[in-house]
Amino acid sequence: MKILLPTSTAGSLPKPSWLAQPEKLWSPWKLQGEELIDGKHDALCLSLQEQQQANINIVSDGEQTRQHFVTTFIEHLSGVDFENRKTVKIRDRYEASVPTVVSAVSRPKPVFVEDAKFLRKQTKQPIKWALPGPMTMIDTLFDDYYKSREKLAWEFAKILNQEAKALEAVGVDIIQFDEPAFNVFFDDVNDWGIACLERAIEGLKCETAVHICYGYGIKANTDWKKTLGSEWLQYEAVFPKLKNSNIDIISLECHNSHVPIELLELVRGKKVMVGAIDVANNMIETPEEVANTLREALKFVDADKLYPCTNCGMAPLPREIARGKLNALSAGAEIVRNELLQTS
Ligand SMILES: [Zn+2]
Repeated sequence: MKILLPTSTAGSLPKPSWLAQPEKLWSPWKLQGEELIDGKHDALCLSLQEQQQANINIVSDGEQTRQHFVTTFIEHLSGVDFENRKTVKIRDRYEASVPTVVSAVSRPKPVFVEDAKFLRKQTKQPIKWALPGPMTMIDTLFDDYYKSREKLAWEFAKILNQEAKALEAVGVDIIQFDEPAFNVFFDDVNDWGIACLERAIEGLKCETAVHICYGYGIKANTDWKKTLGSEWLQYEAVFPKLKNSNIDIISLECHNSHVPIELLELVRGKKVMVGAIDVANNMIETPEEVANTLREALKFVDADKLYPCTNCGMAPLPREIARGKLNALSAGAEIVRNELLQTS
């Protein structure tokens, strides 16, 4: 029997301090060579155990094997020169030094497939694996070859499709594409962003998700949020087209955000991973706060399609806080699950 309101996380969880410096994005590894490979796998097991102890239903690797959700994937591709760096503005928000696309991009070998196989061996629970979305990938690069955001995005969509099919083949149940760029470049999203995503999932039989968030709780993002006013209407621009897409699940930021929850009506019929945990502060939600967010979402999402989740990744948070938030998510989901069972 399928559990009602299955919980999961949007993505990353904190890394142990012996693997990488905690509470930091792009944190450099503390190990090298064989030790690093073993260390990443040990951290993956720990992260899995933390999710299991918190009763998370759909588990992940906690992104223990990657340094960053976009760049680690790009590092494995050919056609991108990591020495040749340019400063660009990411998501029209903050400047970063990024690698340059210098020739045709391709995927000479699988990127995360061995890690996914390793995770699959550790658990019989459903597993979710995250990949960057094509639009977010191009936004993290300087393109000196295709000279067209759209062209480069289509190339990445083909590469992502190869990786996604390989992940499906080793037993990944849900493949999630992270597309924070969907909250910024609305015209491109509607013109070709969603079409590229559909190219990336072409031929997959496993479930697919797109995670659209307002970013990690870093200063550039929290400053940006202050400029968005009291009602965040970004989702409104992309929901109609997403509703008609082949993507199965939409993962959204709903807790403590100023997204009017009634916007979810625009994607009714889709499964929704409802972010009910704020990742931008260290306050651990009470189960009742989580339950309230889920109850609000239930007005617009059918109960069998609601997946309680975190707003975004928790990599930059202290481990204790992240653990507390995982427990709060489970406890909040349990409250609402019981309410639903009593009324049905
Ligand atoms: Zn996110």
